[in-house]
Amino acid sequence: MSALGILGGTFDPIHFGHLRLAQEMAEGIGLSEVRFVPAGCPPHRAPPAASAPHRLAMVERAVAANPLFCVDPREIERGGPCYTVDTLCGLRAELGATRPLCLLMGADAFLGLATWHRWQEIFDLAHVAVAFRPGFPEGAWMDTMPEALRTMLRTRRETDPAALRQGAAGRVYAQPITPLDISASRIRSALEAGRNPRYLLPDAVLDYIQRHQLYVRPPRQTPTPGA
Ligand code: ATP
Repeated sequence: MSALGILGGTFDPIHFGHLRLAQEMAEGIGLSEVRFVPAGCPPHRAPPAASAPHRLAMVERAVAANPLFCVDPREIERGGPCYTVDTLCGLRAELGATRPLCLLMGADAFLGLATWHRWQEIFDLAHVAVAFRPGFPEGAWMDTMPEALRTMLRTRRETDPAALRQGAAGRVYAQPITPLDISASRIRSALEAGRNPRYLLPDAVLDYIQRHQLYVRPPRQTPTPGA
């Protein structure tokens, strides 16, 4: 049965690091589809700078040309704090018990996994597929990992990506991808500082950002004389 990948993120904004992660993990594992799931109100971090409808629109533009990719707006439509485990429960109910489901994430996100809401239940619902990204390389991964994750990996680690297509959930697989040291926070900082983040994200996304004047620092109020 064809395996489905899920890439959750704030996508504030989406950039080539996200897109290459999805493309290379899809090819490495043999996924038939990757769904991008923009977070509505991520519980683990500060509120996103761009609104949920803007972030959704940017993801739609970024994935439009790739037949392997699509957008799943369920977390944004649900509103409120959304937990990955709830999203996976919803997907599992739709897909049935046997379709392989792979939750894709960068190694930085994986290192925080043991702090996620009902994190251990994630493995009943999906595989976890980890991409090594710059700053979080394969060599340093195990050393910096919390004990709870290290213990979990002893029974769940899988080195053969084909195994992820043969079972519905429960394995953890990791692979290196082309290192692209791109982050949404640095793109936002560049825009705020008036620099152009061109070539770090798709042109269609940059056009959207410029058209809607996203990530622009509001001009400082000059005090009224005598006020
Ligand atoms: P921010 O800089 O605002 O923290 P981000 O660029 O890390 O954002 P997120 O939306 O938080 O983007 O990331 C979504 C997922 O994509 C996470 O699993 C993260 O590890 C992964 N990811 C983000 N940037 C990269 C990158 N350059 N290479 C590989 N994976 C990445």
